Amino acid sequence: FDALASTDPEIANVVLGELERLRGGLQLIASENLTSPAVLAALGSTLSNKYAEGYPNRRYYGGCAQVDTAEEIGIARAKELFGAEHANLQPHSGASANLAAYAAFCEPGDTVLAMDLKQGGHLTHGSKVNFSGRWFQPVAYGVRADTELIDYDQVRDLAITHEPRMIIAGATAYPRLIDFAAFRSIADEVGAILMVDAAHFIGLVAGKVIPSPVPFADVVTFSTHKVLRGPRGGMVLCRAEHAKAVDKAVFPFTQGGPLMHAVAAKAVALREAASSEYQGYATQVVANAAALAKGLEAEGMRTVSGGTDTHLALMDLRSLEVTGAEAERRCDLAGITLNKNAIPFDPAPPATPSGIRVGSPCVTTQGMTEPDMAEIARLIGRAVRAPAGTEAGDAELGEVATAVGQLVAARPAYVR
Ligand code: PLP
Repeated sequence: FDALASTDPEIANVVLGELERLRGGLQLIASENLTSPAVLAALGSTLSNKYAEGYPNRRYYGGCAQVDTAEEIGIARAKELFGAEHANLQPHSGASANLAAYAAFCEPGDTVLAMDLKQGGHLTHGSKVNFSGRWFQPVAYGVRADTELIDYDQVRDLAITHEPRMIIAGATAYPRLIDFAAFRSIADEVGAILMVDAAHFIGLVAGKVIPSPVPFADVVTFSTHKVLRGPRGGMVLCRAEHAKAVDKAVFPFTQGGPLMHAVAAKAVALREAASSEYQGYATQVVANAAALAKGLEAEGMRTVSGGTDTHLALMDLRSLEVTGAEAERRCDLAGITLNKNAIPFDPAPPATPSGIRVGSPCVTTQGMTEPDMAEIARLIGRAVRAPAGTEAGDAELGEVATAVGQLVAARPAYVR
């Protein structure tokens, strides 16, 4: 850091400012985590300098002995941890991993059946503003209105009607377990490839607290920086029969040189995720998300689908008569970072949806447990009800911010 501070004080200030932000507030974005110093060390290493197009022992550049070792170790750890026949650690992000999966299994114009964006799907699952919606024919399934759980009957009906080349299971704002066996059987019935986008929950699979999609899917993609707690990046797992197609789809089809510092950092995260400490962490992540949702219910919010089995909960704020956008803003003013989110069948527009999404990965990394979640829920409730911009509201947000400061001081992120 000293080198950065003396060469570029402006950027050094940004880095310090971000560290202070992380230390000073509550991070409840479900897709974020706090990586270990070991992961950060690999990310900030000279491996960043190396060009290594290709794969271990099959590179287009010399001097790859060290990065070959890092990638081989990472691949072996991924296969072992997830029980996968093949792993590719090179995708630059979750979206890049998804692009590679489309490239490996589909041709432009093919029909792809995936979860509706408005009900929790990701941009790469068929949005018109993304390659997935521009180059492929998206068909969307959703959740049932009564249970807010994936409507497997609808998935099957749509699969039979549209005969998709690929079916995607996985979402960005779905708090419940996904029935991978049901998806497999539907995919088999119509002869489709089953892709599981496990970006959100792969860390819980690694920690062995929720079922794995690996035995059911042809291909599993994910980002590595969510519950899994690795560097920003992506990964693909697949059956051996698809290994060549997947590797070619990542490089040279969708990417050039891999980010070897990130590949090494993924290997570090995989080693950490294989530990018993990490299993305890993943167990606590789920317990904390459930406790947070319960606490928010006590504050007058409704938990979409009635609960959570994972690291995140989706809360319906309509009874509080505050939009998700306003709740996000008020929480932000009080040092609580979370995001507005549409709820299933949301009557409100996307910019001001009816819900918020909260996640437990960061606060659990800080060592917080259920009593802390109850306190966080009370603070969120107070912040959401405080009308920012009024004297009373601003005073209340100030008091909540002080309480947030005390809570995080007791369990600091990145201890000094
Ligand atoms: N897939 C899902 C389900 C996601 O939630 C996300 C990101 O939030 C991605 C893919 C994309 O990951 P990235 O942001 O690393 O491209």
